[in-house]
Amino acid sequence: MLGNLGKNLTNTMKKLAGMSIIDKEVVKEVIKDIQRALIQSDVNIKLVLNLSKTIEERALNEEPQKGVTPKEHVIKIVYEELVNLVGEKAQEVEIDKKPYRILFMGLQGSGKTTTISKLTRYLQKKGFNPAIVCTDTWRPAAYEQLRQLTEPMNVPLYGDPENKDALDLARKGLEEFKKRDLVIVDTAGRHKEEKDLLDEMESLSSIVKPDEVILVIDGTIGQQAKEQALAFSKTTNIGSIIITKLDGSAKGGGALSAVAEIGAPIKFIGTGERVDDFEAFDPERFISRLLGMGDIKSLIERAEEIAEEDMDMDSVDAMLSGKFTLKDMYAQFEMMNKMGPMQQVMNMIPGMGAKLPKNASKVTEEKLGKYKVLMDSMTEQELENPSLIKQSRIKRIARGSGMKNEDVKELLKYYNTTKKAMKGFGKRKMGGPMGQMMR
Ligand code: GDP
Repeated sequence: MLGNLGKNLTNTMKKLAGMSIIDKEVVKEVIKDIQRALIQSDVNIKLVLNLSKTIEERALNEEPQKGVTPKEHVIKIVYEELVNLVGEKAQEVEIDKKPYRILFMGLQGSGKTTTISKLTRYLQKKGFNPAIVCTDTWRPAAYEQLRQLTEPMNVPLYGDPENKDALDLARKGLEEFKKRDLVIVDTAGRHKEEKDLLDEMESLSSIVKPDEVILVIDGTIGQQAKEQALAFSKTTNIGSIIITKLDGSAKGGGALSAVAEIGAPIKFIGTGERVDDFEAFDPERFISRLLGMGDIKSLIERAEEIAEEDMDMDSVDAMLSGKFTLKDMYAQFEMMNKMGPMQQVMNMIPGMGAKLPKNASKVTEEKLGKYKVLMDSMTEQELENPSLIKQSRIKRIARGSGMKNEDVKELLKYYNTTKKAMKGFGKRKMGGPMGQMMR
């Protein structure tokens, strides 16, 4: 679900989790990544900019709570602001009277009929006995479609394909089911003119007197979701929203954030065509999942343990000053060995996750052992000052380690790439208010 958005956001958070120092540059870079991910998912630019501003201000000015590291602090802020973007708290359908009347609205094709059967199944599982009234007089097969969906679930359905008066159908249906605990009224999703449709919704609303109006919106329409929700909300008090088709939708983030903006909570999301592809929407859980928070937490914990025990602070200082020797690189390799899987560790090394080529971590994992053997054949002097290593030294090192000249050259090339990345990192200013954020 929302595959790319989730992947991009998770990667950003992993990158952040791997940073050992959180400074203004890091915060800005993280915000840029988040912006890119959200815009690709069609979230409104203005919302994205507001969100970025809030994250930046909070990350740079708010003091982390006691016991919270600067890194966790920033992750927490990103998480909280994304949760706000899609609506804060989870809200359920609360059936507190009998019969509880739900009026369903939504344009044709939005997934309204499918969603009614999904919600019906959901509520049945909670022990309710919903009945359905079909008032769609426009789509000839509407009643038949509902019948096919609800019959296997043993849900009573009222409708009359011959009757072309939606208001009359609503009245009769409500009368029929007045003893049930829950009645769901389906409506048309299309009229000749949009205005006629909206007028009908208004009239139906005054007849049904719903305890809750649920609007169904197609998640693939992105930001337009807001206009649509606003148009419907002019006819009645929209109590809640269900966004459909969030399975794999590139624009899902757009619909979710746009609709959250109008104030009615998103209560459920549709994630597929089957009746069980439906979930209660919980902004906190949803964002946690998008950000891959479970993974991040364990990464932070692991990085922190290592940092406390084994981080060679001298080599960190060397990196920050722009000086980075083969010895420093060796120390890093040692540290990596202790930390486990290369793929994850790469992201924890300052600057590396971001700067090395995509396949670098794979190469490194294979070659790590080889590089270590080569470095064992070097003198202290060479490790301190690799620029000394020219043709004759290369030959000697190769011979000493039982490897080829090319292998030594490759190590030197690797060293130079890493050094360049480290230099970029070292240039970042650590003074000012961000200085305090250094661990
Ligand atoms: P209605 O015209 O609003 O009643 O829409 P339907 O319920 O007939 O759905 C229109 C199409 O969208 C159908 O092909 C459904 O299977 C499909 N659909 C509905 N909800 C979802 C969903 O959450 N995910 C996916 N992939 N398809 C959905």
